[in-house]
Amino acid sequence: MTSAVMTPTFVANSRCECQATLTAQLTEDRTVVAGSALLIGKREPAPAHSIHPEREVFDIGFLCPFCGRNVMRTFAASALTRTGRPAA
Ligand SMILES: [Zn+2]
Repeated sequence: MTSAVMTPTFVANSRCECQATLTAQLTEDRTVVAGSALLIGKREPAPAHSIHPEREVFDIGFLCPFCGRNVMRTFAASALTRTGRPAA
């Protein structure tokens, strides 16, 4: 264990084929700490994980709780929405 606090500082959003909005909360090093999906006002937890988060362009895999699809989306680290400060 490290002493690093797993505080999400970025959020990545995408859209599933079933129109659910998939959201992943990421730490500064782009590790997913929480995923969720929103469809017609209903939010459900969605398992999500990042693949090669050390790269500038990396993938996040979501498991959509509404349709059961495995959704892979590519994100550019520099384009992620920042929601918090980096851990001091
Ligand atoms: Zn879906």
